[in-house]
Amino acid sequence: MTEYKTWQIGDVKVTRVLEQEAPLPPEALIANVDADRLKEHESWLKPHFMNEAGQIVLSIHALVVESGGKTIVVDTCMGNDRPLPMDMGPLQTGFLEDLEAIVKREQVDYVLCTHLHFDHVGWNTMKVGDDFVPTFPNAKYLFAKDEYDHWIGGPEDENIDLRFGVQPVIDAGLHELVPADHALTDEVTLESTPGHTPGHVSVRIESGGARAVITGDMVHHPVQLAEPHWGSHPDAQPERAVETRRDFVSRYGDSDVLVIGTHFAGPTSGRIKKVGDSCRLEAV
Ligand SMILES: [Zn+2]
Repeated sequence: MTEYKTWQIGDVKVTRVLEQEAPLPPEALIANVDADRLKEHESWLKPHFMNEAGQIVLSIHALVVESGGKTIVVDTCMGNDRPLPMDMGPLQTGFLEDLEAIVKREQVDYVLCTHLHFDHVGWNTMKVGDDFVPTFPNAKYLFAKDEYDHWIGGPEDENIDLRFGVQPVIDAGLHELVPADHALTDEVTLESTPGHTPGHVSVRIESGGARAVITGDMVHHPVQLAEPHWGSHPDAQPERAVETRRDFVSRYGDSDVLVIGTHFAGPTSGRIKKVGDSCRLEAV
């Protein structure tokens, strides 16, 4: 049984449903990590975001957002029963049972993928017989138009990320293309955070004077908020990704905005506090 975490942001409830948490060497994620500089951040990274061995810890989870009578699943992890990049699959986890303890799959109104990488579109579908079919039959699957246009019909549209988690949704006609500032409800809107992928979006929540933002992969690990120029290997447009992280930190640093990380381990959330010429995530 998974360990749920919930947040209340005004009238909006967010629940984390975990698929997997794992440590990895910093250089396996961060392209230009500086080991000495990383050491300087250990005091606030440990124990949640870095383990005793100095490995960084990442999580793969979905976030269930309940707002204005609508249920939204933000990012759908890797999914079961399918090949995955880097020999990570096929998985057989209890993710769907864990999710359905929160919301039945027929009751999900929207699925929002921050971008179309394999670890964000997996449970868009599930295997029934020999086929992959949409897991959430009554949902609209929202894809940012720029993201969709980048991948679909392009040279990579046969890739593993899309074949299992995205194409069956398109075939079923359940997808809807939305602008990068789309409002899902009065309280939940998208914001454009390109660079990791060209049409990447984050999710902003505002309700009853409280504010939060779900990052997506514009940042993978909290140390990249302190060192925005530390890129992630999979960033498609590295310079744009750095610019997006810098903007994000200046927008949300020293504010009341709760940052909920799509790959942040442990508490998964915190507030950005500026410290000297750098900053840290104070876990909440
Ligand atoms: Zn990811």
